Amino acid sequence: MSETEYFNVADIFGEDVFNDATMQARLPKKVYKKLHEVMDEGKELDLETADVVAHEMKEWAIEKGATHYTHWFQPLTGVTAEKHDSFVSAPMENGKVLMSFSGKELIKGEPDASSFPSGGLRATFEARGYTAWDCTSPAFVRHDAAGATLCIPTAFCSYTGEALDQKTPLLRSMEAISEQAIRLVRLFGNTTSTSVAPSVGPEQEYFIVDREKYLQRKDLIFTGRTLFGAMPPKGQEMDDHYFGSIRERIAAYMRDLNKELWKLGVSAKTQHNEVAPAQHELAPIYAKCNIAVDHNQLTMETLKKVAGRHGLQCLLHEKPFDGVNGSGKHNNWSLTTDDGINLLEPGQTPHENIQFLLVLTCILKAVDEHADLLRASAADVGNDHRLGANEAPPAILSVYLGDQLQDVVNQLVSTGEATRSIEGERLHTGVKTLPDFMKDATDRNRTSPFAFTGNKFEFRMVGSQDSVAQANIVLNTIVAESFSEACDILEKADNFDLAVHDLIKKLAVDHERIIFNGDGYSDKWVEEAERRGLPNIRSMVDAIPAYIKANNVAAFEKFHVFTKPELESRVEIEFEKYAKTINIEAKTMIDMAGKQIIPAVIKYTTAVANSINAVKTAMPDADVSAQSDILKKASALLGDAQKALLKLIEITDKASSISDEKAKAESYRDDVMTAMAELRKPVDELEMMVGKEYWPMPSYGDLLFEV
Ligand code: ADP
Ligand code: MG
Repeated sequence: MSETEYFNVADIFGEDVFNDATMQARLPKKVYKKLHEVMDEGKELDLETADVVAHEMKEWAIEKGATHYTHWFQPLTGVTAEKHDSFVSAPMENGKVLMSFSGKELIKGEPDASSFPSGGLRATFEARGYTAWDCTSPAFVRHDAAGATLCIPTAFCSYTGEALDQKTPLLRSMEAISEQAIRLVRLFGNTTSTSVAPSVGPEQEYFIVDREKYLQRKDLIFTGRTLFGAMPPKGQEMDDHYFGSIRERIAAYMRDLNKELWKLGVSAKTQHNEVAPAQHELAPIYAKCNIAVDHNQLTMETLKKVAGRHGLQCLLHEKPFDGVNGSGKHNNWSLTTDDGINLLEPGQTPHENIQFLLVLTCILKAVDEHADLLRASAADVGNDHRLGANEAPPAILSVYLGDQLQDVVNQLVSTGEATRSIEGERLHTGVKTLPDFMKDATDRNRTSPFAFTGNKFEFRMVGSQDSVAQANIVLNTIVAESFSEACDILEKADNFDLAVHDLIKKLAVDHERIIFNGDGYSDKWVEEAERRGLPNIRSMVDAIPAYIKANNVAAFEKFHVFTKPELESRVEIEFEKYAKTINIEAKTMIDMAGKQIIPAVIKYTTAVANSINAVKTAMPDADVSAQSDILKKASALLGDAQKALLKLIEITDKASSISDEKAKAESYRDDVMTAMAELRKPVDELEMMVGKEYWPMPSYGDLLFEV
């Protein structure tokens, strides 16, 4: 967009979404009502209704220029997948065609499933997979180079119903938490709410670089991150990028981006520069969990698509540049009833506050008992460069509560009572032993991986290119378990007030160790966490097995979120993903070093040698020690690089031939990654000394500061 084109957000918001307003306007009243019963109460969708919905959806999409439709789903690759079919049906006798789309086509699709990871699940039954319409997520029309396509959000399952995607377990986990949370609020006299849903607002970080420069780097093209690259003279040390003024070119990009997102009904809200140069963040307004997950996938797709139009490239990798801050996603999470009550909002009345404390301590228990699982939910190959690698957040899970709540928990733990609030006022709860308190959103701890921020928890471990689905599946499930156990106790209690007080105290005492309000980056915390027995899981490979640990499997099975075979298949897929990703990185390094970097250094050293000869010929007693030094040093580094390259080739070959998935992943982490670092070292040193015109690719400085 070169010229500024003005538009009214309210006019375009959701214009490409077959949303409730559109459905209400276009569907016959009876059909609209029936569809709502399916959406709200989980009733079965009959084919007759589906046919009407499909027809109207198609007509609407065609008005928007759509020629094709697709079942849009989220397989275990982390990105979305789709197979396009056109609306064109068999030609009629008069040579014309009809545009058709049936209820059957809307409800169910049969993509060729064999090309998606299944971890052996499908192989044992049949190589078929089905996509099924998730009518709780609205359909939308997407415009791109292929024209306009009607996208139908779907779940992806095997022939026998095993989940092969992120959506299915997510929806199952939402049902679980809703049921258990309703049990909990009923205990506190709430008779009006009928369901509870997680609200999620994921903040998305990303890098933007110039596309021309991006295209000159095979590492960025093939792996999404730089595998070589010396630090520029200026990095992020000046802290001048954060909230800095957004450059013109980026500003134009963001404008276009927001417009696209708004049309898709994604409520893009805030945008600002991040810590690193060329790094930015986008946050939407929070939405119901499954919608937020879909919207985050759409956001990632749109970030990339719109960048292309501006001659830019969006890097979603967690660590595109070594030595520069990486990117993550903050998963803001709370629980909201269908009538709008946030269970994580400290309340006005005594009753509400006791309920709040119970919810809070149940969450402490869930996070403490399943810390390894939450860690695993954020495990991603690229995220290994952040978690546990001296970057925010640390790999140890802990909960930050803030001073005021921390004080309340301390009182509960030390005396069994909490009668005062830190502000010094005596507040009334009706129950003498529990204080009232006010929302405390101040003093946020930026180093905490799981922080309470006023009326929500912020899970900050998720990687920037990862789906937020797993994180929310795990959160919903473990908190459902915790609620369920609390309700089992309280529903049986003779004296509810006493029982709830005792339970809150017990939960606080039992799980106090998970609370940490200090500096999560310090070595002292690592030691302290070890003393407390908190897991410190430094890599994805070590994190993955948490999915099949007995207590975690039990939680998933209890709430029908995953079966054991589904979990086992996921573990296998994750190990495979790790090995494959590092294999591509190693191969890319081998290619770049062998075909680009080493030849460039040879050219450069030849030029230096020629220059020495030329100077000597012209002036036999000239001092050429400077050139000789450079030549000597460059030649030595060239030798190191060549040796390291041969070693990397050998080690990668060896790792790739290992057949056990876990052992293979470990070898890629321990052996191949080490060999990669050994090759990078002399190459980065060479980059600092070889003449710029010889270096075969743009530098960090070029990429980070020249957008
Ligand atoms: P920060 O200071 O971390 O940027 P914000 O208040 O801007 O925090 O919110 C960040 C994200 O959290 C946004 O996506 C916002 O919509 C979301 N959010 C706010 N309140 C809630 C809530 N109650 N539940 C879930 N997400 C929320
Ligand atoms: Mg945040």
